[in-house]
Amino acid sequence: MARRKKIYEGKAKILYEGPEPGTFIQYFKDDATAFNAQKKATFEGKGVLNNRLSEFFMQGLTNIGVPNHFIRRLNMREQLIRQVEIIPLEVIVRNFAAGSISKRLGMEEGTPLPRPIVEYSYKNDALGDPMVSEEYIVAFGWANQQDLDDIVSLALRVNDFLSGVFYGVGIKLVDFKIEVGRIWDGDFMRIIVADEISPDSCRLWDIKTGQKLDKDVFRRDLGSLTDAYTEVARRLGVLQAAGSATVTRLVH
Ligand code: UDP
Repeated sequence: MARRKKIYEGKAKILYEGPEPGTFIQYFKDDATAFNAQKKATFEGKGVLNNRLSEFFMQGLTNIGVPNHFIRRLNMREQLIRQVEIIPLEVIVRNFAAGSISKRLGMEEGTPLPRPIVEYSYKNDALGDPMVSEEYIVAFGWANQQDLDDIVSLALRVNDFLSGVFYGVGIKLVDFKIEVGRIWDGDFMRIIVADEISPDSCRLWDIKTGQKLDKDVFRRDLGSLTDAYTEVARRLGVLQAAGSATVTRLVH
């Protein structure tokens, strides 16, 4: 049997050539990295959980008309996605101060922000994904002003949707990151949500206890990442009744 072609291997996912032109297969690994890959670990079952969670969020977005790359799940760790031309930006939306904005502005983590704030980092591991302004983005030609209007509008719609979904299960969406890409329909270009939406790229706090249910559990050594993500999946009704043990069994 011919081996399928690997297109790209990142820190938490691998992209393979898809079965039809214009598609890729996205494989979710169990690896976690933080602090620009200086801290690394493997959490059994994380890839399975993120495959299902990203599917859940992307399908929810499709249902409310927010275009994204998800086509269908293939198996426990893989999903079929639309190939996009990735725009080299991390688009971050913040509702409460945490992480880098807290450090930069000396703001206590958890401080509500006056309104959702959208910011950008340039996707470049060697440089540690530096924060960039709209001026940089337009001047260097990564996106034009119209693209940026579309990106902000997409990011805020994703924020409204995710905030509501999480609020409904007692979780506060502190902030998150999305990536966006271009798809072409003849000469017509559209920007859609790509990559993944999962607890790897969101900050999620339990509303009552403040318990962290996202990758900060790993960044700050607060316990089992798989347990935290399983709790998010359980509350959302994804991977029904899955405890860590179930996830572990499913993985093997
Ligand atoms: N984030 C991400 N990938 C990155 C950088 C940030 O998914 O390379 C997410 C992060 O999980 C958080 C949000 O973007 O939900 C804002 O991150 P922040 O700028 O505070 O950076 P951090 O504190 O993670 O370094």
